[in-house]
Amino acid sequence: MKIKYLGSAAYDAIPAPFCCCETCRRSRQAGGKNIRTRTQALVDEDLLIDFNSDTVSHFLQYNIDTLQIQHCLITHNHSDHLYVPDMLIPQYSREAVKVMYYAAESGYKEIQKGIEETPLMSKFAHAYCVEPYKPFYCGKYRVLPLPANHDPQASPVFYAIEKDEKRLLYAHDTGVFFEDVYEALRKFGRFDLVSLDCTGALQPDYRNGHMCVSTNLEVIEKLKKIKVVDEHTILVINHFSHNGAATYDDLVENVPKNWIVGYDGLTLEF
Ligand SMILES: [Zn+2]
Ligand SMILES: [Zn+2]
Ligand SMILES: [Zn+2]
Repeated sequence: MKIKYLGSAAYDAIPAPFCCCETCRRSRQAGGKNIRTRTQALVDEDLLIDFNSDTVSHFLQYNIDTLQIQHCLITHNHSDHLYVPDMLIPQYSREAVKVMYYAAESGYKEIQKGIEETPLMSKFAHAYCVEPYKPFYCGKYRVLPLPANHDPQASPVFYAIEKDEKRLLYAHDTGVFFEDVYEALRKFGRFDLVSLDCTGALQPDYRNGHMCVSTNLEVIEKLKKIKVVDEHTILVINHFSHNGAATYDDLVENVPKNWIVGYDGLTLEF
């Protein structure tokens, strides 16, 4: 399996527009991996995770072959993860491939409304409503949606994904996991890669809604205890806000050496 991070920031991006905070100033100055667009990822060539308003520029920037994308998992309907207007672009194509979108209730309703209200769109997109703890297959992937500790209005889920005996846990826009989640993860199996929300970066105690480095440590310890994470699991932190008070460079210096700090364009194979 392969994951490519197309974006790595929370809603505000880094540097955030018009922001004079120290993190934004220093990120602007340093450039490179310190510049972050909104979080999105591509698994192998065919499974997209989230569809935000940076999606079209991500496709162009990384020269993504969009004809290969067949499925898209949506985590929740905050605008840095779901932006329906750009999902409807194929209505202006004479021909386009069809994409299946998977989202829990709020996101599903929004996508379904967009498809229904747009002539021709049903030819190019299909929406499925997912539910926490109800696994499903999309293509060759076995997917388990888990309830996220995040704004309940947004029907937030995060995803455990399996293909060819490889497993990925993509857990962004969640605080520390609900207790029931650990049992479901234990049953799902050992993970080759775990990607955790780190919106609060080096700030203390982001516990509900989002996480930070200190709460990431707690979650990783719990995942180790139930043996779904071991010394071979790749650990990634991602989805950063300037309010976390850390640039990419700061994070690399301040997190455990075996963690990978996410950045736009990071690609990992496992
Ligand atoms: Zn977000
Ligand atoms: Zn800022
Ligand atoms: Zn969110």
